[in-house]
Amino acid sequence: MKNGLIANVDLIKQVNSAAVYRLVDSQGPISRVKIAEVSQLAPASVTKITRQLIEHGLIKEVAQQASTGGRRAISLTTETSKFHFVAAKIGRRLLTLSLYDLSGKEIVGIQLPIQVTEQDDLVEFLCQTLADFIDEYARKTKKLIAIAVTLSGLVNPQSGIVIYTPRYNMRNCPLADIISRRFSMPAFVGNDTRAMALAEHYFGASNDCDDSILITIHHGTGSGIMSRGQVFLGSNRNVGEIGHIQIDPLGKRCHCGNYGCLETVASNEAIVEQVKQYIEEGRQSSLGGKQIDISSICQAANKGDALAISVLTNVGKYLGQAIAIMVNLFNPEKVLIAGEIMAADQVLLPAIKQCVHHQSLPSFHDNLPIVPAKFQKQPTMGGFALVKRVLLDGSLLQTIMEGNRHQ
Ligand SMILES: [Zn+2]
Repeated sequence: MKNGLIANVDLIKQVNSAAVYRLVDSQGPISRVKIAEVSQLAPASVTKITRQLIEHGLIKEVAQQASTGGRRAISLTTETSKFHFVAAKIGRRLLTLSLYDLSGKEIVGIQLPIQVTEQDDLVEFLCQTLADFIDEYARKTKKLIAIAVTLSGLVNPQSGIVIYTPRYNMRNCPLADIISRRFSMPAFVGNDTRAMALAEHYFGASNDCDDSILITIHHGTGSGIMSRGQVFLGSNRNVGEIGHIQIDPLGKRCHCGNYGCLETVASNEAIVEQVKQYIEEGRQSSLGGKQIDISSICQAANKGDALAISVLTNVGKYLGQAIAIMVNLFNPEKVLIAGEIMAADQVLLPAIKQCVHHQSLPSFHDNLPIVPAKFQKQPTMGGFALVKRVLLDGSLLQTIMEGNRHQ
């Protein structure tokens, strides 16, 4: 009973500290009076919590000129340079690591090829690369508070267990625990697309709304759904598999076993394949005889190449069909699109919009922005979002304030 009470007191402390930190983060510079007003916490509590947050270097005082002139009022703002963390993205062929401060400024970043194919080798490669990176760039600053990793596949973000990834044969791998024990600090693991949707919500193109959908087109096609400011998750933590919506019953076989999934026509490989096939069949294109990849196709389309335009317009229509289904189901305030293909957004977006317009409810698509995502080339921003989430919900904040960080 007594333990239960103590746990409750701790939880209340965590919830209140988090509420104050969130206000300073979202509305700072903000005065203590205003914090008390908005949070409805007693002024004495606000004084105590802000003192603790200042002592731990999480927020700081700044002097602001009062609007009436005269005496300078003291306000609070977040302290972002005193803590660092590492965000890693495990891609198909590349491991990207970034060292960030809490403002999201990347202090240093590296990218290495991944040459392993199995789970244990991947985990060892990741840990060794992290260790070298931390020794080189982060150990001496003594500011490191967390490590976050994102990757494609089925991940339980609460437990940090990678349940399944098609690549690297990962099955039920407790990756967050492994990293946390190895480096003696909190570690967080999440699905890359869902984490990027969170990053767009915190710092990117969907920062102005609570309900949005991020569509990603790379090797596959995926989506991350934000609902009321949170990543929308199903009971098995996996939702938004837009790539496996069937858009052509007579289409190609997909690796999932079905036919004509969106991914069979709207992934980078599928698009490149399609263009190559048309050229082999003798169709005219400025791409004939050249190295064909997604970037050269986009460039050709932007310069008016009819074949490239027609292939991308088709892809836009297929994407539009699947996005229209998402719009009907979730009624988002905004749809974001990320992928190398967005280099030809002037060709792609009109095709997507037209299809969404025809195939979703008018009240859902009227004034619905369908726009490029902000983070097209910063793969570790997803990891940054995972850390930001635990700062804002109070759990990582509490760890820092309890002095549990190990350096
Ligand atoms: Zn499929």
